[in-house]
Amino acid sequence: MYPFEYIEPSTLPEAVAALAEHGPDAVALAGGTDLLVMMRADTIRPKVVVNIKRIPGLSGIAATNGDVRVGALTLVRDIEKSPVLRARAPALSEAARWLGSVQIRHLATIGGNLCRAAPSAEMAPTLLALGARLHLVGVQGQRVVPVEDFFLGPGRTVLQPGEILVEISLDGLAPRSGSTYLRHSIRPLMDLALVNVAAYLALDAAGTITEARIALGAVAPTPIRARAAEAELCGHTADPALFERATEAAVAAARPISDVRSTAVYRSRMVRLLTQRALAQTLAAAQNGHVQ
Ligand SMILES: Cc1cc2nc3c(=O)[nH]c(=O)nc-3n(C[C@H](O)[C@H](O)[C@H](O)COP(=O)(O)OP(=O)(O)OC[C@H]3O[C@@H](n4cnc5c(N)ncnc54)[C@H](O)[C@@H]3O)c2cc1C
Repeated sequence: MYPFEYIEPSTLPEAVAALAEHGPDAVALAGGTDLLVMMRADTIRPKVVVNIKRIPGLSGIAATNGDVRVGALTLVRDIEKSPVLRARAPALSEAARWLGSVQIRHLATIGGNLCRAAPSAEMAPTLLALGARLHLVGVQGQRVVPVEDFFLGPGRTVLQPGEILVEISLDGLAPRSGSTYLRHSIRPLMDLALVNVAAYLALDAAGTITEARIALGAVAPTPIRARAAEAELCGHTADPALFERATEAAVAAARPISDVRSTAVYRSRMVRLLTQRALAQTLAAAQNGHVQ
């Protein structure tokens, strides 16, 4: 590895100042499971590496008055195992279960997964489906960005030089709501998703869909919401024809590419299959009720 300056701040303001001072030459280091791989492969050559892992208060999962807050440095393994998230955002724990190996999940952070901005990022579709908000801190102070506005393209986000993702917040689940995360890869484990899909549905007492969110990963330059599919669902009672129309709209929203790992046609077919399954499973979860 080439020489670089290494800084290990103990407070958030110090970390923000160090990153801001060196601008695009500096990067934050969390678990390092993406960053160090890229540095070793010479894909990126930062001059300054700012280790943010020793800063207190940036990891942990807390449920307060309905909403749930997850520190950006929370380990993916802790998200997988958290009783709070398993009860309040089970699709997020499910997504965590699929990320890499257990060794990787003990190093990788949820914030690093989002900030790396891979189109297939494991944690992104569920956070889009759950309407998560990202809390960013920089030299100008704090701002809150909906997760769907965070990604700009592969490896690119709205983070400004010096800005750090500190927390992810989720609203409490509505009564009679459910969420699901599904993914497909060639190998069952230790393989990036060829397609990943998350869905969220909320029903009223009569069974009408009041809220629907469908998110797709690995089929566009960023994880995306399938908004036309969501619009098909809202205001209607679930039935097979409705779900078929929503599924077709999700397929139309995807813009997959062919690459070494899959063809675009295969990815489109997987969007159809995973969306169908995700809607059926999410409806069942909502009917069984996360009743609060
Ligand atoms: C063997 C292996 C298997 C993997 N399998 C998967 C998989 O199945 N699915 C998947 O999605 N990913 C996978 N990954 C990728 C990686 O493990 C995840 O993306 C992980 O969540 C990254 O988190 P990290 O804490 O290690 O990030 P780091 O590597 O530390 O950082 C990643 C990027 O985000 C920036 N960053 C990190 N935290 C912050 C923050 N709080 N604020 C601002 N910027 C920040 C860093 O500067 C860097 O650019 C795999 C990696 C390996 C090595």
